Amino acid sequence: MVVASGLGEGREAHGSVGPCRRAEIYLDRNENPFDLPPDLKEGLMRELSKVPLNRYPPSPPASLKEKIAEYVGLSSENVMVANGSDELIGAVLGVFEGGHVVVSPPTFAMYAFFARKEGLDVVEVPLGENFELGDVEARARGARAIFITSPNNPTGNVQPRARIEEVLETGAPVVLDEAYAEFAGESAVDLVRDYDNLVVLRTFSKAFGLAGARVGYAVASEETMAALERTRPPFAVNALSIKAAEFMLDHIEHVNATVDFIVGERERIYREFSACSYPSRANFLLMRLDAEGFLRERGVHVRGLSGRLSGHIRVSIGKREENDCLIEALHAFMADG
Ligand code: PMP
Repeated sequence: MVVASGLGEGREAHGSVGPCRRAEIYLDRNENPFDLPPDLKEGLMRELSKVPLNRYPPSPPASLKEKIAEYVGLSSENVMVANGSDELIGAVLGVFEGGHVVVSPPTFAMYAFFARKEGLDVVEVPLGENFELGDVEARARGARAIFITSPNNPTGNVQPRARIEEVLETGAPVVLDEAYAEFAGESAVDLVRDYDNLVVLRTFSKAFGLAGARVGYAVASEETMAALERTRPPFAVNALSIKAAEFMLDHIEHVNATVDFIVGERERIYREFSACSYPSRANFLLMRLDAEGFLRERGVHVRGLSGRLSGHIRVSIGKREENDCLIEALHAFMADG
């Protein structure tokens, strides 16, 4: 219902689009294509207007931590909030010991970025042919962290829970990045109950549609979380963003409806291009098409990839009419040759 009004808003925004090429369409950052529909946006603005801006934000943000804890089915001692989950990658590296990190390309580039910034070696254990996790256990000894991304960016696949547990059994610190978990409908976050060496990263930037507010969170055992909290300055997250994240958790039915819509659209596009697309559990599709430039000329912006995935594009799922334009442009690309 709520999403329908969001769609209406989208239709208006693109109502005059006619031929797709009249509007620029951004499907390159794995964002949620829906801002809040006007009634919810007004409700949020009313909440924000009550925030005293002369006061420092609550530190820690107890009420947001409570709401997140309820959302993930754990306690607020298991949760830490930060300015986007990017920031948490660096924070996590500060609490463990070890001289290298293990990453599994093709994956999110920020793990290697933060590791190098910390002066750590970056050991690459590439994903297998079907993007399954390789033998990361072989490089577990002495690792500051083994990064696992599920669903993975840019490949879209999830790593099976049993495989994640095998890696946790090494005892090495494991950072499980679940930025896209809501679109997969599955999560291994509850494993923090059994494993002290697990930190799960989550974000409000994707399913919750708050990329502009920059709110992410880490979930870990109470002991690991206490160590993480000690690395953080007070007042790290601003009061407006805290309020926005709380508001979204209070309107989880809207978030869920948005996720359902995006997953439906993902499957619609996948069916259309299954010959050259990988199945995905996230809010984007990886396609074996060297079409970035062709699409850009038609106003459709997607992410062109390099290295092992050169000649591939990663396409974020947009609003229905944006996806229609994408489909039309991709058919034109294929007809072209
Ligand atoms: N992890 C992964 C796998 C991502 O793809 C992204 C964003 N593209 C992030 C983390 C960063 O999210 P945030 O906006 O919370 O910093």
